[in-house]
Amino acid sequence: MSTPIFPNYIDGAWVEGPTFENRNPADTSEVVGLHGKGSAEDIQRAADAAQSALPTWSAMSGPARGALLYKIADILDRKFEQISADMTREEGKTLPEAKGEVRRSINIFRYFAGEGSRMAGVMAPSERDRVHMFALRKPVGVVGLITPWNFPSAIPAWKLAPALICGNTVVMKPASAAPLSAWRIIEACHEAGVPKGVVNFVGGSGGTLGAAIVNAKPIKAISFTGSCEIGNWIHTEASKRHLRIQLEMGGKNPTIVLADADFGSAVENCVNATFFSTGQKCTATSRVIVEEGIYDKFVAAVVERTKKLKVGNGMQAGIDIGPCVDEGQMDTVLRYIEIGRKEAGEPLTGGHRLTGGDYDKGYFVEPTVFANVTEDMVIAREEIFGPVMAILKARDFQHAMQLANGSDFGLSASLQTTNLSRMFEYIYGIEAGLVTVNLPSAGVEYQLPFGGSKDSSFGPKEQGPAALEFYSDHKTVYIKY
Ligand code: NAP
Repeated sequence: MSTPIFPNYIDGAWVEGPTFENRNPADTSEVVGLHGKGSAEDIQRAADAAQSALPTWSAMSGPARGALLYKIADILDRKFEQISADMTREEGKTLPEAKGEVRRSINIFRYFAGEGSRMAGVMAPSERDRVHMFALRKPVGVVGLITPWNFPSAIPAWKLAPALICGNTVVMKPASAAPLSAWRIIEACHEAGVPKGVVNFVGGSGGTLGAAIVNAKPIKAISFTGSCEIGNWIHTEASKRHLRIQLEMGGKNPTIVLADADFGSAVENCVNATFFSTGQKCTATSRVIVEEGIYDKFVAAVVERTKKLKVGNGMQAGIDIGPCVDEGQMDTVLRYIEIGRKEAGEPLTGGHRLTGGDYDKGYFVEPTVFANVTEDMVIAREEIFGPVMAILKARDFQHAMQLANGSDFGLSASLQTTNLSRMFEYIYGIEAGLVTVNLPSAGVEYQLPFGGSKDSSFGPKEQGPAALEFYSDHKTVYIKY
């Protein structure tokens, strides 16, 4: 069977041209597909097409745009099994995880479709006689969406759906490591009959296309999710053109485990948050901070549980953890494990690339647990983005909070406790945009604002009603009658 080709999509047409390979990280002999490798000129054409489509799309009523978003959701729903399997094959996460993500993408389109019938502005009484005043929402214009590989469907969905419902037109650049899941959403837009030019999709290297997106004149806003390094670069460059920007970046997320926690569920939550999706979630736990009194018992239980995790090809039943997304990411994880060895000693479990048999086909790393980690160590400070847990010891709750907040990042955080007062002290005192209690630090829903604080994020939050703040502007109107 020949390798399928997934071309770029500009001005309502599939564009033939150079391609790059999308390989399965669990079995690198499989090429999942060939994707359109766009150029700076393609970005410009896409931005121009989006600009031309803007007047008609933004003039369409919110409910009419919503009807198209419902159609997109229905198309994705019909292809649910195929799109989920595509995701496992291109990104490596397990099939149940992929299904959960595709379900979320579908729900996101339905949620924002309904938003088209609300889209409320602001109305207030005037101080002046016979003056009627209100502020209505209007779109920002052409928006650039740059997405990462770790949630290759949900993140494109949670950027694209609110952008469209607010009346914007779009140029999307997916991650090169996993472009197919986003491509499936664009395919659904095409099949749903979204007018030409409203949605444009240009794959290819971020290093080549990034500057073109930031500099394309029609683009008025950029929503980016990815590393701090690239996000900070976009911040600098986009500021020169006064672009509206939204940046969601890295994390070093803590889970605090207090001595009064429900022990079994605390162990389960820490293992889930650290290792599921191969630790490649921006909200994954990578620092576990345990109160002294239960430290030894907790470390022993986590190690025992971690040893039971099954690593392998996520298409197979019973697998808990898939591969790293590519060789570069695996090398980064292995490099941090070596740093951890020097800093904290031999890991209590894991610590190697998995080899032999089917493991040789992909980028598999053992789930790894380091104990006796201190706050000054590199593995306690830098994002690893892989299946590595660093366990720190805290004297008491206050010390645990101090350790948790002692990071430049502030994306997500979790507390395991049964103490109500501690819970509220933590909720108000923890420096993070997403806060969980007695749940894993990862696992968010689309109905509420999403995003971090400190160096993890910049600009308005994503998802829920907050998304409208980024993707729309207010126009304030005064009428004398
Ligand atoms: P990345 O290397 O920054 O890439 C993200 C996106 O930016 C990709 O589409 C990439 O394209 C593109 N890109 C690369 N260079 C660019 C440039 N010079 N200008 C513009 N775009 C450019 O990040 P990643 O490795 O894909 O994702 C992992 C990171 O994302 C982690 O740090 C993780 O914490 C973070 N993340 C954060 C959140 C959140 O909500 N806070 C969610 C998910 C992930 P190519 O793929 O072609 O390089």
